[in-house]
Amino acid sequence: RVIKSTGSWYVVQSEGQFISARLKGKFKQADLKLTNPIAVGDWVELEKEAGQDTAVIQDIFPRENYVIRKSTRKQHFSHIIASNLDQALLVITMKKPRTSLGFIDRFLVSTESFGIPAILIVNKMDELSGEDEQEWLRDIHEIYEPLGYPVLEISALKDPATKEKLMPYVQGKSSLISGHSGVGKSTLLNALVPEARQDTKEISGYSDKGVHTTTFAELFTLPEGGDLIDTPGIKEFGILDVEEEELSHYFPEMRQFLGQCKYNNCTHTNEPGCIVRVKLEEGFIHPYRYQSYLNILSEEDSHR
Ligand code: GDP
Ligand code: ZN
Repeated sequence: RVIKSTGSWYVVQSEGQFISARLKGKFKQADLKLTNPIAVGDWVELEKEAGQDTAVIQDIFPRENYVIRKSTRKQHFSHIIASNLDQALLVITMKKPRTSLGFIDRFLVSTESFGIPAILIVNKMDELSGEDEQEWLRDIHEIYEPLGYPVLEISALKDPATKEKLMPYVQGKSSLISGHSGVGKSTLLNALVPEARQDTKEISGYSDKGVHTTTFAELFTLPEGGDLIDTPGIKEFGILDVEEEELSHYFPEMRQFLGQCKYNNCTHTNEPGCIVRVKLEEGFIHPYRYQSYLNILSEEDSHR
């Protein structure tokens, strides 16, 4: 499994060993709209290079799923951040920095569009004291839990029980960790995989020379089984190309009513006979969520 990519070299974990591997010549890329042929999380087939301790990636196994980041410059190209994920963990905080509900909703639309379950992890609970902070936390629980997104509360830095708390959710799974910079992703990663930040891996055939060290994602194996994929520097993912009338599919609370609107290409904004707006009025859809829906709709529209 590919655990790290530096652009031209890949670190591949194979039977407990870490092997430095590269691509040979023209590697067959199934989707030409992707800027990177191999991503962290990919399962690949290696062939040892004769007389060396490096290897060549011969083949890639079909990806179960993946998350991408859209390149802003090259509009039609996307970069795969990670693949073969069981779930995505979004670390959020009330302050330093404050995670907005709008940001959470964009994230959830992305994971829904990639078909990946998401869990919200509220970190820095030790700093949550004031009345408006309690209100923010109540909103998070009230809005997201009924939609099927678990909401966990932790203090990665202060609470020694963090690992115990998270283990039932992450053990045996491949989890992507995301969130704004400063929310405590590294702190959490360290709590779960103590050796993660020390980079003590012995990588066969690996040399730092001339290697571009900016990595976008890195996979760490939990001693208890399972993997965590860290995504430093990545604030948010792209949303897969979504047609206007498709966006509501990625809002679970709207999804259940789709097909009941008068027009089957209803955007649920001002069309007559829209059942989503009726459900909003009746209180089945949270006004914040509906507002996020409208925001994403108009943002995506301006990208066209
Ligand atoms: P990252 O950018 O998401 O990787 O965030 P870091 O893990 O680097 O954490 C950012 C800052 O928040 C650091 O100063 C951490 O010590 C601090 N921090 C992380 N977790 C907690 C927590 O549970 N409580 C408090 N009070 N601070 C935390
Ligand atoms: Zn509608």
